[in-house]
Amino acid sequence: AKAAGRNGARLFLPHMQQDADNRLELERGLRTALERNQLSLHFQPQVSMNGKLQGAEALLRWRHPELGDVPPDVFIPVAEETGLIHALGTWVITRACAHIQAWRSQGVNFGGRLAVNVSPWQIAHPQFVEHIQAIVVTAGIDPEWLTLELTESALLNDFEAALATLHALSSIGFRLAMDDFGTGYSSLAYLQQLPLDELKIDRSFVSALQPSVPDPLAGFIVDIGRRLGMATIAEGVETEQQRARLGAMGCDTLQGYLICRPLPEAEFLHWLASRQTV
Ligand code: C2E
Ligand code: CA
Ligand code: CA
Ligand code: CA
Repeated sequence: AKAAGRNGARLFLPHMQQDADNRLELERGLRTALERNQLSLHFQPQVSMNGKLQGAEALLRWRHPELGDVPPDVFIPVAEETGLIHALGTWVITRACAHIQAWRSQGVNFGGRLAVNVSPWQIAHPQFVEHIQAIVVTAGIDPEWLTLELTESALLNDFEAALATLHALSSIGFRLAMDDFGTGYSSLAYLQQLPLDELKIDRSFVSALQPSVPDPLAGFIVDIGRRLGMATIAEGVETEQQRARLGAMGCDTLQGYLICRPLPEAEFLHWLASRQTV
C-alpha cells in the first residue's frame, strides 16, 4: 500500500510495511484458524422491551495462538480483501445452524432465533442463496430461525443483483435485518424496496441518548421502521436511561451490555438457565 504525498510523490511509510506484514500474517493465520478450529461464536441475547427473549446474535471470535484474541473489526476486512470471507462466512452460518439445531432439540429456550452477520461479499456471491439453502437443509433447521444481518454497503456495488438476492432469501424464509442502520450512504428511497424484517439502530445513535439531550435520530429510525412495517432493534444499549428512552420511542428489541455481553456458548447457556429461574 502506498500513499500519495502532497506533491504527488509516492510515499511508503514504515508503518505501512508493518501493516502489510501484519496483513499477510493475519491472512496466513486465518487460513490456519479455519483448518484448525481456532474460531468460535459468541452469543449476545436480544430481548424485547418487556423483557421477553427474542433470540441472540452470533459474533465471530478468533484466538490466535501467539497474537491472542484478534477482534473481528481487524480480521474481517482482511478476510474480505483476500476472498477468505466466503469460507469464513460459510463456517459461521454452518456453525450457527448447528447451534440452533442442537439448542432446539435440547429444549434450550434461547428465543428461537439466531442472527449472523453477512458480509457484502457474501451477498454478491452468485451462489450465495444456493449455498445457504443447502446449509439449512443439511442442518435440518427452518430458515425462519436464522436472521441474516446485512449492511447498507451490500447494496452499493450492484443494487439490482443485491435486491434480487435479498428477495430470494426472504422468499425462502430467512429473516433479514439491516445492521448499523443510518451509518451508510444509502438513501431512504431504496429502503421500501427491500424485504427487511428488522432495522438495527446503530450503537452511535443509542450512545447519543444522553439524559436531557433531545434525540433527533434514534426516534426517527423507529418511526421509519413503523411506517415500513419493520421491527426496530437497538444495539449497544448500556444504560437504564437508554432503555427507558428507547421504550418511550416504541423501539421493539434491545441488545447490549445492559442486558448481557456476548458470551461463549457455555456461559450463554448458563445465562439463559439462570434467567429462567428468577
Ligand atoms: P456489529 O454487527 O455491529 O456487532 C455489534 C458489536 O458491538 C459487537 O462487537 C459487540 O460485541 C459489540 N457490542 C454489543 N453490545 C455492546 C454494548 O453495549 N456496548 C458496546 N460498546 N459494544 C457492544 P464485535 O463482536 O467486536 O464485532 C464487531 C463487528 O465485527 C460486528 O459489528 C460485525 O460488523 C463484525 N462481525 C462480527 N462477527 C462477524 C461475522 O461472523 N461475520 C461478519 N461478516 N462480520 C462479523
Ligand atoms: Ca451485527
Ligand atoms: Ca450492528
Ligand atoms: Ca454497529
